[in-house]
Amino acid sequence: MNQNSLNVFEQLESEVRSYVRSFPTVFTKAQGHKMWDKDGKEYLDFFAGAGALNYGHNDPNMKQKLVDYITNDGITHSLDMASEAKGDFLEQFNEVILKPRGFDYKVMFPGPTGTNTVESALKLARKVTGRTNVISFTNGFHGMTIGALSVTGNSFKRKGAGIPLTNVSTMPYDDFGSDNLDTVEYLERFLENNGSGVDTPAAIILETVQGEGGINAARFEWIKKVESICKRFGILLIIDDVQAGVGRTGTFFSFEPAGIEPDIVCLSKSIGGYGLPLALTLIKPKYDMFAPGEHNGTFRGNNLAFVAATESLNYWKDDSFEKSIKAKAEKVTTFLENLVKKYPEIKGEIRGRGLMQGIASEVEGLSEKVAEESFKRGLIMETAGANDEVFKLFPPLTIDDESLEKGLAIIEESIKTLVKDKELVTS
Ligand code: PMP
Repeated sequence: MNQNSLNVFEQLESEVRSYVRSFPTVFTKAQGHKMWDKDGKEYLDFFAGAGALNYGHNDPNMKQKLVDYITNDGITHSLDMASEAKGDFLEQFNEVILKPRGFDYKVMFPGPTGTNTVESALKLARKVTGRTNVISFTNGFHGMTIGALSVTGNSFKRKGAGIPLTNVSTMPYDDFGSDNLDTVEYLERFLENNGSGVDTPAAIILETVQGEGGINAARFEWIKKVESICKRFGILLIIDDVQAGVGRTGTFFSFEPAGIEPDIVCLSKSIGGYGLPLALTLIKPKYDMFAPGEHNGTFRGNNLAFVAATESLNYWKDDSFEKSIKAKAEKVTTFLENLVKKYPEIKGEIRGRGLMQGIASEVEGLSEKVAEESFKRGLIMETAGANDEVFKLFPPLTIDDESLEKGLAIIEESIKTLVKDKELVTS
């Protein structure tokens, strides 16, 4: 490759490429919460692979396990044959994650991406209930294949489907619309009224904190109420924990503090530990009704991901990791509270919970500018929301305090520079 050149991507890669436009440099190396480009410039990673790198880049223990496994000619590809690596993962996941939480789920391995687990969940719910409709929520994001896209809110992404997206009713998420609208009450009225025009759905699918949709965190009582509505009408509750799960909000599953037990849980991104593709669909045993091979796929047994994932779950063997995430999350919240007070020009509102927080700015284009300015100063951060109105702080959960503070300081510095530009903040 030519030295330091982005030309190759412009010439050879499809126009659909996106993150290379936000972070226009060629990366060569990464470790923990740091990345380096071809010029040797160091970046702090507040993006974490959009939630796929909760344990940071190239975790040393996972790396060693992978190197040993490859060196010993461990099985790499095996569809869904039984492999030792998969067996080890299933045991570890059961012992470290499911059992201590009192959860009883069968583990399905769909294709390795987030959209794959969502597709499998939707298909299964329709099969189990014999119903076709699914309820999704405003600003939900579930992936780019047709089923997942049909439950996704963003109009730009939806248009990309090129066909009508059907068999879905969209309802207002918590706090969507006016302050006076109790959205969960609204949902229940639609389901109980025979004249509502909304067919009883097979499933309700939601993210407890909407990642791409703007870091909107639903209140625990709202989530709990949705669960009770599902029970009342015999609807399956699918929690899409692809982005909010695996510790991002402070607990392994994002829904733990809400005290619910979803019928189906979708996991991907950080479940593979090392950024290697892996997805799980967790299913309550009574709904484990796909016939053998009814939903299959060539890449359901990513053994390298199993090896890294098994190692990654050691982080969860006691509560020290959870505690450390909470402490860092508090630091971020305090920082954001001060920021919003100190710079009223940005008209900012704090969103999210855990290490899944951000600021929604009413000033058009400001959040994108904050991300841009931060990048210039060596911090990688993305935006979220239907109009990219939120800048999103997503450091690896393993980041040390000093680097976290350094990253926060870069964000403040960027904002300070931007608010000096009167035109920008009064637009
Ligand atoms: N669900 C959620 C909540 C997501 O955030 C994403 C990805 N951002 C997906 C599903 C889709 O995952 P993937 O890009 O791996 O298909």
